[in-house]
Amino acid sequence: MDFVEAVKAAGVVGAGGAGFPTHVKLNAKAEWFLVNAAECEPLIETDKYLCRTYPDRIVETVKTIAGHLGASHAVIALKAKYRREMEALQGAIDKSGAPVELFGLRTFYPAGDEQTLVQQVTGRVVPERGLPLDVGCVVDNVGTVLAIADALEGKPVSEKFLSVTGAVKQTRMFHVPLGTPITEILKETEITEPDYAVIVGGPMMGRMLKDKEAIRQAVVTKTTGNLLVLPADHYLVKRSELTEEQMIHRAATACIQCRMCTDMCPRFMIGHEVRPNMVMRNLWREKSISSNEEFEKAFGSAVNCCSCGVCEMFACPMGLSPRKMNEYAKKLLKERGINPARNMHPVAREAVEYRKIPTERLIARLDLSRYVTHDLPQFTEVKVKECMIPLSQHIGKPALPSVKAGDHVEKGALVAAAAEGLSVNIHTGMSGVVTEVTDKGIRICGEEE
Ligand code: SF4
Ligand code: SF4
Repeated sequence: MDFVEAVKAAGVVGAGGAGFPTHVKLNAKAEWFLVNAAECEPLIETDKYLCRTYPDRIVETVKTIAGHLGASHAVIALKAKYRREMEALQGAIDKSGAPVELFGLRTFYPAGDEQTLVQQVTGRVVPERGLPLDVGCVVDNVGTVLAIADALEGKPVSEKFLSVTGAVKQTRMFHVPLGTPITEILKETEITEPDYAVIVGGPMMGRMLKDKEAIRQAVVTKTTGNLLVLPADHYLVKRSELTEEQMIHRAATACIQCRMCTDMCPRFMIGHEVRPNMVMRNLWREKSISSNEEFEKAFGSAVNCCSCGVCEMFACPMGLSPRKMNEYAKKLLKERGINPARNMHPVAREAVEYRKIPTERLIARLDLSRYVTHDLPQFTEVKVKECMIPLSQHIGKPALPSVKAGDHVEKGALVAAAAEGLSVNIHTGMSGVVTEVTDKGIRICGEEE
């Protein structure tokens, strides 16, 4: 089986959060292969854990992937302050003599945004709404690199590494089958709050689960990298309760047009046309703009927003929600059929190196400083009795079930095949009996030992 076919068969997707099918990304030639080990969001531990634990396997696989792409540069980018991880990877590079370099990023958010990473490492700027490949780069998360290593040995993606951080007695690392209910993981973590919410992912871009039923339903997928536990009355939980209507009203009445949201925007800084202050300025008259040309002038830049959250969680002095309003504006543009032209050759702004958000200050702003720990996370085993494996854990069409209720499956077996077009295979991370197949997922009950 060739390289891309092996990755496709194993169902590998971007492990860093986006879930783009990796076989599509790797079906290319590129000058640069970049590994994203930046641990973009505050408090997450997974990338660091993988770099410390599997440095040899990472370096060896980076060399193989770069060879496949025909890349003349293979670079692993992580924050320079991660000294242990830097040393582990450098040791592996020295031992193997692999033509792989390390790039030490400064400690800012969002260092792990794919387009920011490309600009930082190569100096190139990805076009608006473009791909790193447009400027000769392929970027994969470090977890994806390890999944590719497994794929090349015929082992599919069926389990996931993730950290649990926040209001827990000790930060922990887990390695669990896909479809594991997050409640099974939380049981092992000694949560320090009687009433809590959970963010799946990081505090800036993760998915907030507030009520007990939402937490009970949530399962680990190919893109789950972290669970952040927070007290139910935490600032981030309360803030997530604002309705769209409230946000629009506040934008129309309280925005002082200071422009901080635009001037601090990481995408604006790499030269993209993203102007959240313009969106905020025009919201009050949104319904009265009849001309599409005028509408595009007011709201068009929203299409280039990547929802990183810097504008609303850090920059805005009025506590407004420009990110959410950009999402609202994107919806309106789509309804009107407006598709603004793309700048294919953006140039990073002069101040790009000076206008970065220090992660430590961001953590303080988010009221998360009390959860920062310098202890290494403890690896914890979980015995999973049942899992519900979603058919859609990736960008593209949901996979199609290839098993039925009553079937016996072994760990690693294919349980849903990629649909035609953009889609991926899905495998089980536990042996057992299929007890339910729905249009959402496949339930598997584990075997008693
Ligand atoms: S969320 Fe805000 S800061 Fe981030 S890209 Fe969008 S406008 Fe810029
Ligand atoms: S930072 Fe806040 S107050 Fe300033 S322009 Fe943006 S939304 Fe308005």
